[in-house]
Amino acid sequence: MKLIILGAPGSGKGTTATVLREKYSLAHISTGDIFRANIKNGTPLGVEAKSYIDKGALVPDSLTVKMVQDRLSQDDCKKGYILDGFPRTIAQAKALDEMLEGSGEKIDAVLSIVVDDEIIKDRVSGRRVCEKCGASFNVKFKPTAVEGVCDLCGGNVVQRADDNEETVKARLETYYKNTQPLIDFYNEKGLIVEGDNGKDSDICVSQIEAGLKSKGVL
Ligand code: AMP
Repeated sequence: MKLIILGAPGSGKGTTATVLREKYSLAHISTGDIFRANIKNGTPLGVEAKSYIDKGALVPDSLTVKMVQDRLSQDDCKKGYILDGFPRTIAQAKALDEMLEGSGEKIDAVLSIVVDDEIIKDRVSGRRVCEKCGASFNVKFKPTAVEGVCDLCGGNVVQRADDNEETVKARLETYYKNTQPLIDFYNEKGLIVEGDNGKDSDICVSQIEAGLKSKGVL
């Protein structure tokens, strides 16, 4: 099963993708996570990407598309994957189509995670992530048992540098301008499956599973 997950920053697409990854043994490819790992390790890609990420802007396609192409060629992707954070623009979606055509593959469904803007702002400002395993928490909605310590692996739990109010505003604007048109792009291909993640993530996952079943993907 090959999936794309789309949703505004803070919509819970990362968390939903993690649930689906575990349940269906998919490779979880988060371009944001790959960039953050590169920034942490001080690679040339990380150094270049950081200047865009810190502003809430998109990293140029020339860097992003190549990075995804390399990742998709790895062995763990053969069993299926969920793309989280890519594509983010129509140009990236077209580049993905070309990549997949080359290997005779296709995307089975595009999951669209829907959440109200007000809820998003609350979620993003309270979001904390584990530096070690990437688990996501929220000071208001899902606090760690011990402040600053990951419940899962004991790693340091911190606020992402781009989760401050100003950058979030820029990221939301970027999302509506560049990423929202992707919903229409994939709707025309009949690939969209919607999940409402405004209240309960279990409900969102059930809606997605029902949508995947109705398309014969599950
Ligand atoms: P995320 O963790 O998905 O919210 O991504 C964090 C940041 O990484 C974004 O605000 C962008 O600056 C950058 N980024 C992640 N995925 C992409 C992409 N597909 N294209 C361009 N920039 C990206």
